[in-house]
Amino acid sequence: MTVVYLSLGSNVGERKAYLNQAVSLLNSLQGTRITKCSSLYETAPWGKIDQADFLNLCCELETALSPQNLLLSCQKIERDLGRVRHEHWGPRTIDIDILLYGRSVITEDNLQVPHPFMTERAFVLLPLEEIAPHLTVNGAELRTYITALDSTAVKKIDAD
Ligand code: ADP
Ligand code: MG
Repeated sequence: MTVVYLSLGSNVGERKAYLNQAVSLLNSLQGTRITKCSSLYETAPWGKIDQADFLNLCCELETALSPQNLLLSCQKIERDLGRVRHEHWGPRTIDIDILLYGRSVITEDNLQVPHPFMTERAFVLLPLEEIAPHLTVNGAELRTYITALDSTAVKKIDAD
C-alpha cells in the first residue's frame, strides 16, 4: 500500500456535493481507502468576476493501485461526475490531481509527481498542510512554500 495525497476542486454547480461524491467514489476504488480529508477551502476569483469561486480540498489515501491506474481511476471519476449535469463539453465539475504518490518521483508524459504546480498553489498547500503538517516536498516543508505565497484569497470554510 502506498500513501497518496490528492487535490480535488470544483467550481461548477453543486460544488460541495461533487466533492463529496468524488471522495466517496475514491474510497470505493479497488484496494483503496481514504484515510484523511481536509476541510473545504474557497478561493475567491480575481479578474473575471463572472467566474464562480473554487472549492478545494485535499485527501490522503492508501492504495494498492499503481500510479497510472490511480490516474485512470481519477479521470474516470471526473468523467462520471461531469456527465451528471453537462451534456456538452464544458467546465469540469470536478478536477482531481495526484499531488504525491509515496515518495515516488514520476516524470511520464501524462503523469508528473510531485504535481509540478503544487508548491505554487495556496489552494493546494493550505488543505494539504491541515491533514499532513509535517510533509516535505522537494526537500522543504509545506509551510516554507506557503509563507512565500499570497494566500489571502483562500479561506477555510467551517464544517456545518
Ligand atoms: P489541470 O489539472 O491542470 O486543470 P487537467 O485536469 O485537464 O488539467 O489535466 C491535464 C493533464 O494533466 C491530464 O491529461 C493528465 O494526464 C496530466 N497530469 C500530469 N500530471 C498529473 C498529476 N500529477 N495528476 C493529475 N493529472 C496529471
Ligand atoms: Mg487535473
